Amino acid sequence: MDVCVVGSGYVGLVAGACFADSGNDVICVDIDESKIENLNKGIVPIYEPGLEELIKRNVEEKRLTFTTDVKSAVEKSLVCFIAVGTPPGEDGSADLQYVLGVARDIGRNMNGYKVIVDKSTVPVGTADKVREAVAGELKKRGAGYGFGVVSNPEFLKEGAAIDDFMKPDRVVIGVDDGTDAEEIMKELYEPFVRTDNPILIMDVRSAEMTKYAANAKLAVRISFMNEIANLCEKVGADVNSVRKGIGSDSRIGHSFLFAGIGYGGSCFPKDVKALCKTAAENDYDFKILDAVERVNEIQKGVLVEKITNYYCGEKNVKGKTFALWGLSFKPRTDDMREAPSIVIINKLLDMGANIVAHDPVAMGEARHIFNDRIEYRDINYDALEGADALLIVTEWNEFRRPNFDRIKSLMKKPVIFDGRNIYNPREMKKLGFEYFAVGRKV
Ligand code: NAD
Repeated sequence: MDVCVVGSGYVGLVAGACFADSGNDVICVDIDESKIENLNKGIVPIYEPGLEELIKRNVEEKRLTFTTDVKSAVEKSLVCFIAVGTPPGEDGSADLQYVLGVARDIGRNMNGYKVIVDKSTVPVGTADKVREAVAGELKKRGAGYGFGVVSNPEFLKEGAAIDDFMKPDRVVIGVDDGTDAEEIMKELYEPFVRTDNPILIMDVRSAEMTKYAANAKLAVRISFMNEIANLCEKVGADVNSVRKGIGSDSRIGHSFLFAGIGYGGSCFPKDVKALCKTAAENDYDFKILDAVERVNEIQKGVLVEKITNYYCGEKNVKGKTFALWGLSFKPRTDDMREAPSIVIINKLLDMGANIVAHDPVAMGEARHIFNDRIEYRDINYDALEGADALLIVTEWNEFRRPNFDRIKSLMKKPVIFDGRNIYNPREMKKLGFEYFAVGRKV
């Protein structure tokens, strides 16, 4: 099938490469010329495990190409995916300017029947706006081509995106009854659901809502566990034991119950805000979600609070040097959008502290944000030299079993503030560290 994906970011590149890998001819489009130039040279602009190899193979086998020319991409394709960003506007609602801009591009360049697919996360009612935008352009041209608008939200997780796309738990397709678009979408996704995971066909509005409901539900779990953790500290319980205790209940399950320093990333923060906004626009007070967001904002500050308590006040943080392991919002990605590390670093810099940071892949991104306001080290141990304390901010696998003797020998004082609970408090004490975690007895 001929497919184009407009927007070649985390979602567009993964979707494009995976569709190509199942035999389709795919054109990935972006307005960012340098991004496309790099992709055409084999340079992948983001870190996502397995993506570079997948792109390379499909480019070599001539099923995957990259262009800034949306016209030729639309003309050649039966299915046109919209996978551009939907960042939060000033009022928290999803900013649809990029999505609707692409919809107009498609309308301007259509040369026959097209299936137009909203892959971006968009509020309920956006498919109607996309339909209007396309129809408006066709009307201007006096063209009468038919088209279907489909909502096909994406549920991939950065860091495991290829696997999630190739073997999705489910594929959600929101489509109007009785159109060709439904059959075309089923055909496109059939190779990805051979293990009988379902393709769920539903109406467009329900599909749009499903994506927000999924992210909001996950955010609720995280904020809930963070509040349990905060209470654990007060009553002398250990949130890690509590997590295991409740996770083994089959009604609850183990996923997304890890307490920490709040959720970040390009999705949860903006999607929770956008759903609150949708609720407000529909005269509905979404009380739980307001609280989820408030809790998350506070949680991003708990590590710094522990630090200032330890040093008996902000003024004593001045001049201290903190080694910081982990900058990305979660492991296995270089994405730093809304990462808790940004809040933590800014707060400590404001207090006059020095930060020496290490991340396996996100230091390039961090340099765009902090420039030379912090120092960077390619090797995690190198960040520790002369540090007053170590902060664990992202739970990369390689931080889980370090050489603690080496850590101790490099630091000025063996103090660890662990925002991800990756070490065992009792072991840390035995090893001679002062260890502070989230929601755990220390
Ligand atoms: P991104 O910022 O990584 O990529 C968006 C790309 O679109 C950029 O490369 C940008 O240059 C390009 N673009 C913008 N306007 C364009 C235009 N007019 N024509 C062509 N290209 C254009 O964004 P992302 O993380 O891939 O997210 C895309 C959408 O998918 C968002 O709505 C997001 O909420 C949703 N989503 C993201 C994830 C995730 O994990 N990142 C997961 C599921 C859903």
